[in-house]
Amino acid sequence: MSSFHELGLGENLLKAIKELGFETPTPIQEQAIPMLLEDNTDFIGLAQTGTGKTAAFGLPLLEKTDFNSSQTQALILAPTRELCVQISNDLAKYARFISGAGIVPVYGGANISTQIRQVRKGAQIIAATPGRLIDLIDKGAVSLKNIRYVVLDEADEMLNMGFQEDIDDILSNTPDEKNVWLFSATMPSEVREISSNYMNKPKELTIGKQNSSADNLEHYYYAIHERDRYNALRRILDFTPEIFGVVFCRTKLDAQQVAENLIRDGYNADSLHGDLSQQQRDKVMARYRNRLLQVLVATDVAARGIDVRDITHVIHYHLPDEAENYTHRSGRTARAGKSGMSMALVNVRELDKIRQIERKINRKFHVGKVPDALEIGEQQLIHFVKKIHTVKVNDKAIENLLAPVQDELKDLSREELIKRMVSLEFERFLNDYRNAPNINVDIAHQGKQGGERYRSSGPRLFINVGSVDGFDRGYMLRYLCDLSGLSKADIGRIDIKPVYSFIEFENPQSLETVMNSVQGEFHKGRPVRAEISGEGSGEKKKDGKKKDWGSKDRGTKDRAGKDRGNKKGWSDNKPSRSRKTGEKSSSRGSDKSDKKKKKYSGW
Ligand code: AMP
Repeated sequence: MSSFHELGLGENLLKAIKELGFETPTPIQEQAIPMLLEDNTDFIGLAQTGTGKTAAFGLPLLEKTDFNSSQTQALILAPTRELCVQISNDLAKYARFISGAGIVPVYGGANISTQIRQVRKGAQIIAATPGRLIDLIDKGAVSLKNIRYVVLDEADEMLNMGFQEDIDDILSNTPDEKNVWLFSATMPSEVREISSNYMNKPKELTIGKQNSSADNLEHYYYAIHERDRYNALRRILDFTPEIFGVVFCRTKLDAQQVAENLIRDGYNADSLHGDLSQQQRDKVMARYRNRLLQVLVATDVAARGIDVRDITHVIHYHLPDEAENYTHRSGRTARAGKSGMSMALVNVRELDKIRQIERKINRKFHVGKVPDALEIGEQQLIHFVKKIHTVKVNDKAIENLLAPVQDELKDLSREELIKRMVSLEFERFLNDYRNAPNINVDIAHQGKQGGERYRSSGPRLFINVGSVDGFDRGYMLRYLCDLSGLSKADIGRIDIKPVYSFIEFENPQSLETVMNSVQGEFHKGRPVRAEISGEGSGEKKKDGKKKDWGSKDRGTKDRAGKDRGNKKGWSDNKPSRSRKTGEKSSSRGSDKSDKKKKKYSGW
């Protein structure tokens, strides 16, 4: 491995790099910098995000730019505002010791007049999103006539985002005597087309396998039921108390909702998506970058280009629509030689997508297991104990408290004190997770094509109102939340039948709360009644035959409240027997959770 001194960079840049703490060039820097410095060449760099490619093109670009002139000589096009800002910030840091260097980011969603003013002050290098650059060109604020270098960063992503025409427009209006340097994580035919249209015998460099994922990045997927998505996320976050992560959602609404739910549930999270103003986005990013935020919940577009050091995990709350975006997302972690984890929550219908992604990135996913209460409790305890070691003690603030506390605890030995502290900490988590079921889907027993089968994972509530009473799922959810004060996340799958309904709960306590809150209520003049409907689907008799749940008789009885016998029928639903072995199909699961319950009660 060479040092930066051997690459041909000037003293000013070397000094700045040293100050930034870059000791050795990354592989792409080692190869691309001398190539771009020496020759006036077009260039294609196939490299993942996080490989150090900004410096790989940024340092030669700074070296080759004439900062004695105030004319715009280089354009860097990037798909998102975040990436533009990131690139211009990075270049400004490298150019710290170069006097007169003007590097200006221009991007949509921000005040165009301010950007025009900044460009007019002198911008030898502009980092721009294609659309906004065209606006500035149209307004006569940017001239392309002295452009000598055009860098297309994340070219595949720009094309994905529909910038093809804008890029064509910009490139065809630049002088012929220029060099185009193109960077892309993948090489679809559209990117090849740009290179054949606008580049002349480009030198090509591939770092790592094309489309592949960094070696220091591990990929996991977690097979869950759709209804358990949020709970799975919470468990993963609880299991990883030191996480510094990005959670990706498919839509702005999802990102907003997931972030709000996490905040409500006590996590240090916030959202980043296109419905936020630029100012709000900057604020969120600044908090995240400074680690005042632990979890950033983002959409693909908003998060592209995020370069925050030491992100430990990328969680795909939803898989992206395009397999290619998976690479962009997971490239937020495992940057600059650090390791990272990419975790995807998938329902069984999405398993095929995992296979597609595996082919794309040339890597296999590990099958992850959503942790259970015990595993989470252990991790939290380890975290808590670590914090005891690392906590900064503010002697002054606690000096008056210590004496009475010590007095209160004076009878306890060190062992006893530790035991109690551990119990308390464990209790706190186990209370949250008490009776929480296993929410992993056993993919080995799903059909090849998946097709999510309904499996009850927790107790169900029977309620004697249904669609004929004007209930649909949304109305039932609001009705139960309003009555009980619980939130939507506490309530599981709702199955509306004509004259009655079933509601699932992950947490039996929530079921109890809803059941109690319903008692004594009247709906359209009729008493509402709810009771536990027993484990299992409730739709099969012991003999495996379907019960006639929908019969009118049955419904009338429910409403009249004369169905004690029927109630017995519901709780009679024993786990059904597997046809093959005759074993109880759910016995293993329940044995396991019983064991755990016993273990917890000991603490
Ligand atoms: P990039 O791929 O350009 O987005 O860079 C990824 C991260 O690596 C950024 O945070 C850079 O500041 C950092 N980085 C780039 N080059 C080096 C280097 N030679 N040594 C250490 N960190 C680097």
